[in-house]
Amino acid sequence: MPGLEERFGTMVFSDKAMQAYLPKDVYTKLRATIDEGKPLDMDVANVVAHAMKEWAIARGATHYAHWFQPLSCITSEKHEAFLDPVGGGAAIEKFSGKELVQGEPDASSFPNGGLRATFEARGYTAWDPTSPAFIKDEVLCIPTAFCSYTGEALDKKTPLLRSMVAIDTQAKRVLELFGKRPRRVVPCVGDEQEYFLIKEEDYARRPDLVITGRTLFGAPPCKGQELEEHYFGAIRPTVNEFMKELDDELWALGIAAKTKHNEVAPAQHELAPVFTNANCAVDENLVIMEKMRTVASHHGLVCLQHEKPFEGINGSGKHNNWSLSADNANLLDPGDTPEENLQFLVFLSCVIAAVDEYQDLLRASVATCGNDHRLGANEAPPAIISIFLGDLLTECVQKIVNGEASVHASHGVLDLGADVLPKLQQDNSDRNRTSPFAFTGNKFEFRMPGSQVNVSDANMVLDTAVASELGRFADALEGVDAAEFGERALAYVKQSLTDHRRILFGGDGYSEAWHEEAERRGLANLPTTADALPSFITEKSLELFESMNVLSEAEVRSRYEVKLEKYDKRMNIEVRTMLRMARRTYLPQISAYATKIAKGLATVKSASPEAVMSSEQALLDKLLGGVTAISVAVDALAEVHDKAEALTDVAERACCYAHEVIPAMDDLRARVDAMEDVVARAYWPVPTYDDMLFYV
Ligand code: ADP
Ligand code: MG
Repeated sequence: MPGLEERFGTMVFSDKAMQAYLPKDVYTKLRATIDEGKPLDMDVANVVAHAMKEWAIARGATHYAHWFQPLSCITSEKHEAFLDPVGGGAAIEKFSGKELVQGEPDASSFPNGGLRATFEARGYTAWDPTSPAFIKDEVLCIPTAFCSYTGEALDKKTPLLRSMVAIDTQAKRVLELFGKRPRRVVPCVGDEQEYFLIKEEDYARRPDLVITGRTLFGAPPCKGQELEEHYFGAIRPTVNEFMKELDDELWALGIAAKTKHNEVAPAQHELAPVFTNANCAVDENLVIMEKMRTVASHHGLVCLQHEKPFEGINGSGKHNNWSLSADNANLLDPGDTPEENLQFLVFLSCVIAAVDEYQDLLRASVATCGNDHRLGANEAPPAIISIFLGDLLTECVQKIVNGEASVHASHGVLDLGADVLPKLQQDNSDRNRTSPFAFTGNKFEFRMPGSQVNVSDANMVLDTAVASELGRFADALEGVDAAEFGERALAYVKQSLTDHRRILFGGDGYSEAWHEEAERRGLANLPTTADALPSFITEKSLELFESMNVLSEAEVRSRYEVKLEKYDKRMNIEVRTMLRMARRTYLPQISAYATKIAKGLATVKSASPEAVMSSEQALLDKLLGGVTAISVAVDALAEVHDKAEALTDVAERACCYAHEVIPAMDDLRARVDAMEDVVARAYWPVPTYDDMLFYV
């Protein structure tokens, strides 16, 4: 078998492939587009398209597809053959620059949250040359943005790219003040993807998993995760085979899958690739998720990517590691010398200010129906945003706020009284797993995103908010005399840290005490999607997105609508599945078992009237009581479900689902789960948690 180096990137139109397939001058122009965002003219695009086609066909591709991310969150692709009939029954292989650069899918079948009514129905896809094209199942996939004809973003990628431009622009202004002129500042992202693997045959027998991605019923297993034996445990053979094939497929696509291990919950695992530019990281993550699903099927497995497939068992997140890179220098690296420290502190304080100012928006960016089961339950970060800095950095912030730090007037060097910052690198083992936003040495780890979400939104909000704070710093400091700059910058940092100190928290984020403390500090606590989403359309959010040229008001509103609608639709599907399963799967089986017990009772009694049958009688009573309780709960759920569906306003409907329907769902579930412990195994209609979680 070829070595890892040869296997890596064979199916991606990488820099190496470009060099091999493109004339030198075209290669140089394409690189300028990729690295500096320079426009690409059609002559160059034609040559690139031809080269891409040759490269792809040599690797078995027959089609190309513009690969994009509509607001539905799934990825979309329409395959076009590289064919052009030339008459006489013949055809030639063809792929033009125009076909590479722009596509015209019909936009009318994708969610647009009202944008279509305001603007044109047609949409177009535009090549994102900064994310490399790759071959997937004989199709050359070209990462693209998806917009309406009047330029409104209809997808997740466009705003992310715009937010990356915003951060590039504002960070460069700040760096200029420090005498630096990098070519490009980019947010770098590494997403840790958590997932579950279960057997296909179990999955097929659980309509709730098939339809909603999570178990709507199921009593806790006899053994959960309390023995703490799964995390980092030896990987079992079937899972190992799955992981090996997955790694191979991802490596071929140029995705540097690096870390894999068992996670905390039984049947739960994680994969983390090496970080890269934010837009590429998002594209890679979407491919990783898709590959996980298809590769699992080769091993008789199903990959569950829902945030909470099993109640009472840890859910899955997607930790989004984030940093800023200026021509490969990490701006969140504290640096080894006091000269570098002031600049680091400026960037750090801007991130802290951004997270505090826009905490509700960040929370909203990860709000989904599935993630509501995670945030706020005692496992994932809470729904309240706070920042964990670690001991050393907290100490440093404290000194600045207390006025104990100074800048030497002569050469602008920061003095914190002791050599605190250079020691930071060693401090990154000091983890706080309960924090939603933690500094881990030279990057921040945003732990709120759910496992199945497209992290474009979270990164777009983070980038935009940080860009805005960097812009504020630059506004305040531009024009300041060089001799005064150091002191003035430190004074700005001091003020900003003082203003935003409330967001810093190093304690246990799960504790009740923190919830109370957070409320005293005035931090937002938005437990459900219905509560969180309105943060998108506040004056402050609209102003942020518009001022940074990331989203127009119409674009923000459309996203808000789409997210709300999606929440309502998912909830509706869950309720319908629940009702159907209760009525058609559980009730008939519990009744059948009750009937069997009743018949047994009657038979024994008639043969032996004096027989002691009290426990059989008690069981029968319990079963019949359960049937009644389930029926009552079914009716109650159906009623409140009807009420929700009758509401015409999407936001009101979402609130009704979040605060009235969910409690009714919980109640029905509890009644059914209570029966799981008493109904004979042979009568129980679906695989249980014990069956599903321990046998892969
Ligand atoms: P953890 O110990 O948090 O589970 P992992 O090794 O599983 O860490 O994942 C860490 C992720 O962070 C990886 O995807 C890694 O590439 C990414 N990462 C490391 N450094 C940076 C950085 N400077 N910017 C963004 N992401 C980074
Ligand atoms: Mg990890």
